[in-house]
Amino acid sequence: MFVDIAKIYLKAGNGGNGCVSFHREKYVAAGGPDGGDGGNGGDIVFEVNDNLSTLADFRYKRKYVAPNGENGKPNRSYGKSGKNLVIKVPRGTIIRDAETGAILADMSSGEPFVAAKGGRGGWGNMHFATPTRQVPNFAKAGKPGDELEVILELKLLADVGLVGFPNVGKSTLLSVVSEATPKIGNYHFTTLSPALGVVRLSEGESFVMADIPGLIEGASEGAGLGHEFLRHIDRCRLLIHVVDVSGSEARDPIEDYETICKELVAYDPQLVKRPQIVAGNKADIATEEQIERFRRYIEGKGLKFFPISAASHKGVDDLINEVRKMLSKLPPIKTYEPEVTPESLEKHTDGHEINIEVRNGVYYVTGEWLKEVINSVNFQDYDSLHYFEKVLKNSGVYTKLEEAGIQEGDTVNIYDMEFDYVK
Ligand code: GDP
Ligand code: MG
Repeated sequence: MFVDIAKIYLKAGNGGNGCVSFHREKYVAAGGPDGGDGGNGGDIVFEVNDNLSTLADFRYKRKYVAPNGENGKPNRSYGKSGKNLVIKVPRGTIIRDAETGAILADMSSGEPFVAAKGGRGGWGNMHFATPTRQVPNFAKAGKPGDELEVILELKLLADVGLVGFPNVGKSTLLSVVSEATPKIGNYHFTTLSPALGVVRLSEGESFVMADIPGLIEGASEGAGLGHEFLRHIDRCRLLIHVVDVSGSEARDPIEDYETICKELVAYDPQLVKRPQIVAGNKADIATEEQIERFRRYIEGKGLKFFPISAASHKGVDDLINEVRKMLSKLPPIKTYEPEVTPESLEKHTDGHEINIEVRNGVYYVTGEWLKEVINSVNFQDYDSLHYFEKVLKNSGVYTKLEEAGIQEGDTVNIYDMEFDYVK
């Protein structure tokens, strides 16, 4: 079954809690703190899998939860981190935040995307011993993992999209120019899902063509099947508008053409600006007069017209040659940049405000942004510490401490992380 939209729930793993524990050994009185850190929660990561062509997997499974990190253990033992949960999606899937509708990622390039970050593990009490606090009876709790709902929307990656009424010969055309084997039948809505085919031109030169199931009047409002599939035209660089020029189903080709154009505009006004070639199919059973009347009409609009017979392959090469020529001048397939939402901006624009309070000779530094920094630093790791130090310097924390009168050797406390001030 072809499914191209799904809403799913993501919950990344929580960080494990830090451990409070003290070293114990026979004949040793008060051992130092040795509570280890909690492990990090698992992330939720999206990856492209080219064997997938629909979002059908997400119809029944809608909840994705990555494992939590384990709690820290005594004896300086770390809790295990939760494994990342990888979700495979077809290429061309767009991931949106369900709440804001903002695009988070376009899975076209093959780059993995971390949609929900696991929470960091909390520090064990082994980090909290200082000369003035030898028995730290606390540890940090792990942070919760991200939790959000996302909408997955598949927008096929095709250079060329075939549009037109049902039964005009779109599937037939795709089957004669590519290796694709779409269903062909002399009744409406034979094609129930878009089909992709690769059209090979010469060694190493090819393009992708998509057969978009029949559009009919009212498609943009949800009639027939068309509406469901219009989103797949969105990325196409070029449209081939296929019309039954013979009027074999007792409709007028000019009216057909206009009806489909109206549907495209109703769905997205930008679509009229999309380069378009018109193919008058079933020319084998059309009269010369029918073909010329339609040609005048289409060429009068400044569009290229090709009478073809997909079934007998007549005129198809000329059409494909023109497609090739046009594609060589057109910009590449559209991809989406992640959208910036007010919420995501807020995260980055809050100032580096801090507050300093001196109690019993200890300089307590607080500030919302510092909490984040503290949580992101691994105090076991030299580079990480170095980074921390740089942040404190560059953000003016040191300057402010000096203004507050700090002296070499005084104790600084930032959210329970204590160290001696050294110039
Ligand atoms: P789609 O619904 O637009 O995909 O149309 P199909 O490709 O399924 O074709 C619909 C019907 O038109 C089938 O019975 C085809 O055999 C027939 N058909 C397709 N191309 C031609 C053509 O060039 N000439 C004639 N006479 N019939 C065709
Ligand atoms: Mg078809």
